[in-house]
Amino acid sequence: MSILIKGVELFGEATDILIDGAFIKQVEKDIKAEADTVIDGRRKAVIPGLVNTHTHAAMTLFRGYGDDMALMPWLEEKIWPNEAKLTADDVYWGAKLACLEMIKSGTTAFYDMYHKLPATARAVEEMGIRALLSSACFDHFNTEEAEIGKAHVKKLYAESTNYSSRVKYAIGPHAIYTVSGPLLQWIDAFSKEHNIPIQIHLAETKGEVADSVNQFGLTPVRYLYRLGILSHRLSIAHGVYVDEEEIQMLADSGTQVVHNPASNMKLGSGVEFKFAEMFKAGITVGIGTDGCSSSNNLDMVEAMKLASLLGKGWRRNPEVLTADEIFHAATASGADILGIHAGHIEAGYLADLCLIDLNLPAFTPNHNFVSNLVYAANGSCVDTVICDGKILMQNKKIPGEEEIMAEAAQRAYLLIKN
Ligand SMILES: [Zn+2]
Repeated sequence: MSILIKGVELFGEATDILIDGAFIKQVEKDIKAEADTVIDGRRKAVIPGLVNTHTHAAMTLFRGYGDDMALMPWLEEKIWPNEAKLTADDVYWGAKLACLEMIKSGTTAFYDMYHKLPATARAVEEMGIRALLSSACFDHFNTEEAEIGKAHVKKLYAESTNYSSRVKYAIGPHAIYTVSGPLLQWIDAFSKEHNIPIQIHLAETKGEVADSVNQFGLTPVRYLYRLGILSHRLSIAHGVYVDEEEIQMLADSGTQVVHNPASNMKLGSGVEFKFAEMFKAGITVGIGTDGCSSSNNLDMVEAMKLASLLGKGWRRNPEVLTADEIFHAATASGADILGIHAGHIEAGYLADLCLIDLNLPAFTPNHNFVSNLVYAANGSCVDTVICDGKILMQNKKIPGEEEIMAEAAQRAYLLIKN
């Protein structure tokens, strides 16, 4: 299967792109090659697919449910009781809706953390997108629950060998207030043995930091450092409350960080994300939307704008977090966090890319494409999405989208009602 994109703009220059199988084979003007599919790229710009480095896909079912609440009451009253009722089919349809929304807004890969992982995997396989799926893991400081958690991780890891190359397995210990130190250390050892990534929510709220100091005598990052589990296999979602020494601990260990601006603002978690300091220390920082009940969409174009404006706002400095830096975080850095050879439009990289419709007010005039994409546009500017060398969306249409929305909405209403 080959695709030839003719005359598309790559950062202001018209070019052709030849895709062969899952990879970009050639990027240059006037490629003279036959291809199974030819796409007219004129009045379109090509970008690497956006990478959403922290979300909970099936939480699309809770979109708009339990808004305007603080994190802990929201989790305890609205989310956890309803999540306990979720069936595998609910998760499947919620994840299908999430994949649909991500593809429509230019995301080609995401890092998920949720329950009933095989249902999400089935949705991802069918929708054609790429995902690193971490299974949510808890023990609530209970040794029996920890043993159940370990068995579950082993089982899901063994099953993950059946997935296609687009779907990979990771472990998702929820947070330091729901997962004990011994279980975190076991997860780290298992991750090391099998080279599996880990993602954890960390240093998200002031309350979490205070509780961590009370319970463990240390702030969250120092606590993980003492447990010995900071590593290049670990990414932390949020990382709002980290000091200079903790940033150095993250940098020295190769731990990655995912910034979730919409979630941090909506839940009132905090705004002072130290992007510039982390960047300077050499930490790979990605952008995430977080789940749909705290963001409330999966639009990475919007997330880029929020990340940039939030950083400029709290520092009262318009020169930080440029459009180019944020775009890099949402593409190349995201791909690095997911461990995929993507995030660049160059020969040899995975053919995960999007064509942006330039016939829109947001790209008129088009003095600077990346500026318009980050600051002026939103996810609806995406016209065509290709992942793993296959066309998932063309002319803003995805096959079966009406059915996915209808079924997911129906299940969401029933879930809340019962
Ligand atoms: Zn989250």
